[in-house]
Amino acid sequence: MYYNDNTVIYLDGKFVKANQASTDLYSQTLHYGYGVFEGIRAYATENGTQVFKSYEHFERLKRSAELIQIPFAYDVQALVDATDELLRRNKLTDAYVRPLVFCDPNMTLARPNNVSIMICAWEWGAYLGDKQLRLMVSSYCRPHPRSIKIEAKVCGHYVNSILATNEAKDKGYDEALLLDSDGFLAEGPGANLFFEKDGVLFTPQLGNILPGITRATVLEIAEELEMEVQQGLFKPNELFEADSAFYCGTAAEVIGIASVDETVFPKAWKDSLGKKLQDAYSKRVRETSNVLSKN
Ligand code: PMP
Repeated sequence: MYYNDNTVIYLDGKFVKANQASTDLYSQTLHYGYGVFEGIRAYATENGTQVFKSYEHFERLKRSAELIQIPFAYDVQALVDATDELLRRNKLTDAYVRPLVFCDPNMTLARPNNVSIMICAWEWGAYLGDKQLRLMVSSYCRPHPRSIKIEAKVCGHYVNSILATNEAKDKGYDEALLLDSDGFLAEGPGANLFFEKDGVLFTPQLGNILPGITRATVLEIAEELEMEVQQGLFKPNELFEADSAFYCGTAAEVIGIASVDETVFPKAWKDSLGKKLQDAYSKRVRETSNVLSKN
């Protein structure tokens, strides 16, 4: 599903066949989750393929590595260029791109001296589908920022996301909503939250969440559309009283939320601020001004 016999990946400066690439089973990342990654989308535009906010994603990859003290000697521009070349070599236009920085063999709990980077890409539809989601408030909270670097996109953090997703799906919901350890609204397992009340948008402030690049794009678009947005700490009851809500993330894009637990949002999605932002986001990612590579 992710690759076939012709697929090429980028591994430490070289393009190699996915089915011939290998890694060491003693990698510290495999055992302890000590690695960092990204999720990026490329879109077909009128003028060729555009890797949306490629620089921002590779800058975040670098920052994630620095935050958890993984050596990162890569040049962001070189990784941006490698991604363009990867898409060309795989003849991909609309694609999801996954860079991963993983550590050398090391069974100790001290940082490694050397790491590797791989970038792969595949075609992937909207991660959470296109129907409005039925969420449940998870019994799992997001990790406390004093336990981990919550602003880094670290492999091991995703155990929390997987547990929350499994719980929600096992209970018949589409997706989870996680609170922070103080009981404030935080985020989804792989997306940021916005909600609308009386014509104003609300979104959890940075601090206990991943600083989403889609969240930043939605904030930019909301400003352009002169929508009022408040960032802060909000309790679940404020969400239960909202008119509408949505998740946003690179993989999920902008996706409406129909309900949280038993509470159904009263506003029709088509009339919501979320729908306007969904349409504008879909347009923005396909605008040709940012085309980085030509296929
Ligand atoms: N929160 C979490 C926990 C995520 O994994 C993601 C996906 N990277 C997001 C939010 C959304 O981030 P972005 O818009 O940068 O994809």
